[in-house]
Amino acid sequence: MRNLLPFRSASAPASTVAALAAVTAAVAVSAGIATAPAAFTTAAPAVDSAVDSTVTNDGQSVSYQGLTVRVPAVGEGVQAAAQSTSGDISLTVTRGADGKVVVKTDAHTHDEDGEHADEHADEESAAQAATASSARPSAAKTCTDKAYALAGWKLPSFKWYYNPAGAPASVRSTAASAISAGTSALVKTCGQKSIRLAPSYAGQTSAGVQVGKAGNCTGNDGRNVIGWRAGSGRWLGMTCTYFKTINGKKTVTGTDTALNTQYKFFTATKNCTNAYDLQSVVLHERGHSLGLNHVSQSAHASAVMTPALSACSVGKRTLGLGDYKGLAATYGVR
Ligand SMILES: [Zn+2]
Repeated sequence: MRNLLPFRSASAPASTVAALAAVTAAVAVSAGIATAPAAFTTAAPAVDSAVDSTVTNDGQSVSYQGLTVRVPAVGEGVQAAAQSTSGDISLTVTRGADGKVVVKTDAHTHDEDGEHADEHADEESAAQAATASSARPSAAKTCTDKAYALAGWKLPSFKWYYNPAGAPASVRSTAASAISAGTSALVKTCGQKSIRLAPSYAGQTSAGVQVGKAGNCTGNDGRNVIGWRAGSGRWLGMTCTYFKTINGKKTVTGTDTALNTQYKFFTATKNCTNAYDLQSVVLHERGHSLGLNHVSQSAHASAVMTPALSACSVGKRTLGLGDYKGLAATYGVR
């Protein structure tokens, strides 16, 4: 568990404090609250606490390493989670019933998990062509490692849409079924009982994926859409999840996932060159939507919810036991 640090600590730079005063004011105004200024706290990322200083806000939005979300309404929250080739980052902003805005960040990079360099193929090394491998990192532990981490929310009914606009030619005809497969893979693994979760594909839509090119969460229309973006950031897949506290429980009100066409994807199991398995990316992003947080790359390499995905690997198309346990703890089994 990360430490919650008071944002207005003595070590906070003056500029940060000024910016936070701005967000406090904006929060109070937008909610019509004249009293009780919102406290603004942030959590240190798992490893590098210095990264705190990279959280910024303009009074209405909060940004962290290229991710941007709007300050949510009272009792609501939003998470932006981006899976990249070099790890994974997330930004979660929650606003309690008392108006307090809490920011949590999470960053995992190559450097932190350097011992698993073999899992981190670099898309920029074009010369390093690889062939698809079904070998799962630490495959022997896939059905024994029980580790998981929960974000704390639940998506009661996962009805989702696919927007095919902008799909790369290489996967245009196969993407819908790979995305379906990645979503269906949430339900079962390792010979366990099925999770009490019935994702339902509602078909194609022209409704937009509410994820901006730069990695910003642009809004919540209440429709769960997955689709494509020519993203400008270094992310393969990015998910924005909105939640609201209902009867004391964080309940997802909308979750969208964008897949970045600046990277190559594949859906088959061979002839891969520096491309990423669509089904694996989708399964990981769905994990975020449904309430899973990351587990350590180095300690739990066989889990889907580790930060990194290597090029051409198809070894994470199904949940590890820990991923399953996390979902089972949240949704139950049947
Ligand atoms: Zn992730």
